[in-house]
Amino acid sequence: MRAMVLERQRAPLVEREVTAPDPRDSEVRIRVECCGVCRTDLHVVDGELRDPKLPLILGHQIAGVVESSRSEAFKAGDRVGVPWLGWTCGKCRYCLAGQENLCDYARFTGYTIDGGYADLAVADTRFCFALPKSYSAAATAPLLCAGLIGFRAYRMAGDGRRLGFYGFGSAAQILVQLARADGREVFAFTRDGDAKGQRFAREMGAAWAGGSSEHGPQALDAAIIFAPAGPLVVKALENVRKGGVVVCAGIHMSDIPSFRYELLWGERVVRSVANLTRRDGLDFFARIGSLQIETKRTMYPLARANEALSSLRSGEITGSAVLEVSAEY
Ligand SMILES: [Zn+2]
Ligand SMILES: [Zn+2]
Repeated sequence: MRAMVLERQRAPLVEREVTAPDPRDSEVRIRVECCGVCRTDLHVVDGELRDPKLPLILGHQIAGVVESSRSEAFKAGDRVGVPWLGWTCGKCRYCLAGQENLCDYARFTGYTIDGGYADLAVADTRFCFALPKSYSAAATAPLLCAGLIGFRAYRMAGDGRRLGFYGFGSAAQILVQLARADGREVFAFTRDGDAKGQRFAREMGAAWAGGSSEHGPQALDAAIIFAPAGPLVVKALENVRKGGVVVCAGIHMSDIPSFRYELLWGERVVRSVANLTRRDGLDFFARIGSLQIETKRTMYPLARANEALSSLRSGEITGSAVLEVSAEY
């Protein structure tokens, strides 16, 4: 099969013909239709996430069709989605406490397990999702990380009416639609001077959009930080009311600068969100069942995965980047 392979970190992916993987018990082999490109893929390539499997096939937003199955859960021909959380031990204190996202032994798709930048992928069906029929494979791919982990961050932000989003990319364009459906207002903060990103945020439903050094028109009940820039934590704290929460949604972030205690005073909370649980995924797909989430996407053929990654790195992508792998996506 064709695969775009990471042979070593801080180097471009290499197109290779590799042996197709065979499913083991409880696994399926999937013909990949589309695979979303995530900022986490960049953190793996750039060496900010350490010790990946090498050589590695990236990609943890896989939408495809089961080709062969060794599981009761899915049969050949079923449409299936594969997220970041690929395997958990089921035995550690976190798994037993319903926090499998923090499992000490977790394995992750496209990081410690081969992912979807390839014609075929193998996945443990206990961590896969049946996909809603109302979405194409291309529309589904961004939901599988930006949607699922974004949804976990959204829930961690609490029930406040005014939400700030710092960074407006793949996750924010999905969550702004959910927030609006929940009767909430979104204030989008992107790079100062980023008129294109701010226009996009307003088009997708943000009540206000401006630069990240600005104060929004009203104090926020909560803020979610999607951009991997530590100074945004301080900016967000400046804009969040007493008792509000700042959620850091990314897996990697640059250092957070020191700040006055006064910004945290008043029972403000800063927290991270790590990975996802299967429950997050099931709840997310149930929640969007009555909505039709629209995403703006830039499509790339599999062989141009490096281009997709560099466009994401330089901030050129508006919305989500998706690789189309098989012709009939
Ligand atoms: Zn565990
Ligand atoms: Zn991701």
